[in-house]
Amino acid sequence: MARILIVEDEERIASFVAKGLRADGHLTTTVADGRHGLDHALSGDHDLVVLDIGLPGMDGFEVLDQLRSQGSRVPVIVLTARDSVGDTVTALEGGADDYVPKPFRFAELLARVRLRLRQRSDPAGQRPDVLVQGGVRLDLRTRRAQVGGREVDLSAREFVLCEFLMLHAGQVLSREQLLDHVWGLDFDPGSNVVDVYVGYLRRKLGAGTIATVRGMGYRFDR
Ligand code: CA
Repeated sequence: MARILIVEDEERIASFVAKGLRADGHLTTTVADGRHGLDHALSGDHDLVVLDIGLPGMDGFEVLDQLRSQGSRVPVIVLTARDSVGDTVTALEGGADDYVPKPFRFAELLARVRLRLRQRSDPAGQRPDVLVQGGVRLDLRTRRAQVGGREVDLSAREFVLCEFLMLHAGQVLSREQLLDHVWGLDFDPGSNVVDVYVGYLRRKLGAGTIATVRGMGYRFDR
């Protein structure tokens, strides 16, 4: 269970996010403007913040900027319009941990929330912002992927899958583990969604990056 602050002025979205997070076992607080959002985020009472960009009072970029300049390290997931992902990626250098483009399915947001909360509770401490394995480079903050120095365009889901495989490079991950961590849903275990997405990643990253371990799952090769 985590305490999650939602800063979102669109009531429909705020209540849909709050409802989903509560159903996942978290406590939520919702605030509809940037200034109050900043106050709440600075209180230290939250484990994670879901922050909209277009907000009355103070926009999400400024909230983030103030939050970081006042020393808060609370994980922040930014909600952004799909057509302004470019601006957001630039602004992420100002301190967001992640972003989810609108419109989104709840499962997409939940996967990001779970990942950030897991990283936070990881006793091994801070995970790196950049993963590099076998010629593949993933920047976890800007969500850029490169192969051999060349930029590769990964969808949000492909990125999460790639990130999870790379975090466990050299280890075999079962389809169930991948479904649970990347899709965060109880998919039909007979679903081939994992195989399909591994196929997409191989096409983009190179066929040799992800090995199939017969009867067991997949392994990102270092
Ligand atoms: Ca808004």
